[in-house]
Amino acid sequence: METEQILKQQYDAVLRCNRCGFCQTACPTYAITGMEASVARGRNVLCRNVLEERLPLTKDLYAPLFECLLCRACTAHCFPAVRTDEIIVAARNAYYREHGQPAILKFLFREFLPDRRRMTHTMRFLTLGKRTGLSGLVRLTRILGLFGKQMMKAEQLVEKAPRRFLQDILPEMSLTPPRVRARVAYFNGCAINFAMPEVGAATIEFLTRNGCDVMTFDHCCCGLPAHSYGDLEAVRTMARQNIDAFEKLDADVILTDCSSCSSFLKEYPKRFDEDDEMRARAEKVVAKVRDFTELAVELEPDVAPMADKATITFHDPCHLSRYQGITKQPRDLIQATEGAEYIELPEADWCCGGAGSYCIAHYGLSEKTLDRKMGNVETTGARILATTCPSCIMHLRYGISQKRLPVRVLHLSQVLTDGGGPL
Ligand code: SF4
Ligand code: SF4
Repeated sequence: METEQILKQQYDAVLRCNRCGFCQTACPTYAITGMEASVARGRNVLCRNVLEERLPLTKDLYAPLFECLLCRACTAHCFPAVRTDEIIVAARNAYYREHGQPAILKFLFREFLPDRRRMTHTMRFLTLGKRTGLSGLVRLTRILGLFGKQMMKAEQLVEKAPRRFLQDILPEMSLTPPRVRARVAYFNGCAINFAMPEVGAATIEFLTRNGCDVMTFDHCCCGLPAHSYGDLEAVRTMARQNIDAFEKLDADVILTDCSSCSSFLKEYPKRFDEDDEMRARAEKVVAKVRDFTELAVELEPDVAPMADKATITFHDPCHLSRYQGITKQPRDLIQATEGAEYIELPEADWCCGGAGSYCIAHYGLSEKTLDRKMGNVETTGARILATTCPSCIMHLRYGISQKRLPVRVLHLSQVLTDGGGPL
């Protein structure tokens, strides 16, 4: 599809912005800069001017377009519910067609993320430096600081590299319960597989304990990172691969414990607006997709009591609360856990500033967004901060370690299995 067509599809959406400015109070980037180009209204005006050919798509538009967190807080505060995130993604696509996509992004989205085998080989190599202590040594010498604060942060985001990925551990786990209530295909998202297998192990322990026959299968990245950078062609390649894989499954539910993956998988039909056959296939398979929080509540689960009583608060990932409208389920699950004292987090749905690679690419804005989140976490006095998105987990753990707060950041499935499953 040509750039012009992709952007024009958003023209009606852009026109629905009446410039009322209600989005100002909700937008994390506007809260930091106070600049009109940092809020949905300003971003939509710029896109409208580009579409009406009154403004060329120059490199000056990079910051307004790429500094948006795609958090959808604006849409939640907007009477016509303008989907600014979709407008921005289309504009990013147009921007890269105009100015060229950096080669590293092209490789990442076209060659790396669609190929799980290649990802596995590369990740084994990359995690070696972390495990052998080499990266810790580099941190101590502050050499990375010479390349900018972003590099220092990138090194610190993953606290410790796992010895084995989740895909290595799964064959050793018991995946079938004595009494089967549901057949669940587990979508093993990239971040959980390669960076936090203990989360996936806790999820699977929770599922099997509650009567789920868990099956694993070959699939690739859900495609969300490519979507965030406007590479819609790469997204369709990955979505096609995953839809083929989903169609071969004999499962009641396709489940993921990454809320970013679940929200994006559910939106696969939208990625095929121009292809009726693919859209119909996508609609059929994604009807089975559930976020962990949804299935966990539906199971009316047997939740492990916490061995040590703890105060717990919950951070709503944007892709869970705004993209999927799920807010009650995680709170209900925590409150049903014996030994857990739930404390509501002020501004629980305010973005943490992680947003995939945003926290590195837009270091300053991301740090300030995280500071606000950390301030709120501190006021609760909670000792556990739970959430359901691995990108949020990494960024929140980074914030907690920078502020030296006495708080553990856990995935909800770890809370429900008393801190972590078998690893
Ligand atoms: S995006 Fe929505 S809330 Fe913001 S100015 Fe436009 S119509 Fe108003
Ligand atoms: S998606 Fe988030 S960061 Fe982007 S304009 Fe809307 S509120 Fe602001």
